[in-house]
Amino acid sequence: MLLLRLFRERSMRQSQLIYRGSESSVVRIIRGSLGQDGNGRFVCVPGIKLWQQPRPCAWCGEPFTVKYVQAAKTRFCGRSCSAKWRMRQPEIVARVHTAEIHARIGAKVSTWLRETPKGRRHAHRFAAIKPMRIPGMRARISAILRQMGHRPPWSGGKGRGITRPQGLLLAALGAEWVAEHPVEVRPRQKIRPSCYYLDLANPKKKIAVEVDGATHYTAAVKEADARKETYLRSRGWTVLRFWNREILDWNASGRLTGSSISMTFRRFGIRLSR
Ligand SMILES: [Zn+2]
Repeated sequence: MLLLRLFRERSMRQSQLIYRGSESSVVRIIRGSLGQDGNGRFVCVPGIKLWQQPRPCAWCGEPFTVKYVQAAKTRFCGRSCSAKWRMRQPEIVARVHTAEIHARIGAKVSTWLRETPKGRRHAHRFAAIKPMRIPGMRARISAILRQMGHRPPWSGGKGRGITRPQGLLLAALGAEWVAEHPVEVRPRQKIRPSCYYLDLANPKKKIAVEVDGATHYTAAVKEADARKETYLRSRGWTVLRFWNREILDWNASGRLTGSSISMTFRRFGIRLSR
């Protein structure tokens, strides 16, 4: 009786050590051969071999037993718990998440997607998922982005609100006109964006007005502008181009009806209101 009590006390001491997460708790679990006596304390279960004694998982704390003597030193109840513990160790994470390993896994996955029937089915299924086509999704995402204070990194136009010259011209143009009008680009090509935004547009009459700033002097932007214009013309749009400066001057001069800007619009049957 006394012997049993002494044994129990020893077991309890050891289980407390384990709960405090001492360094060599694994060794103590195995040597101490702990079980559960129904009171939430780990004590020895008589008649069971040492390595078969239940022990608490080092991650989730649930008691578990191992089936094979080879697993006697296991500290975790399963692969899930051991993986969770491993991925909380900074040195292990640093070893696993390297650029080379990511590239290797990426290459393996893309080979699988391309070259196996199952992979191809998988890729097809994912390609068919178009979150932005789900009703209300675009609104939800833009609400979240706005809440986050997200601003697209590119300058001007899209996402930044309209510029002052754009606003002045829009006010003079009337109700049929909209700013930042999106035009989808079909068919998709690598060189072009999937969607063009028109600074100002009359979608009914298919007239686009581009209001350009100083960045449009550069060769790369000129080239992109030319591509955009070619595409729009091929889709039946008329493209008019003005400089920011032109519009500001026109506004400063009291929006003369005889100005070059109003005369340009006049040619397309558009009257600017003063
Ligand atoms: Zn566990």
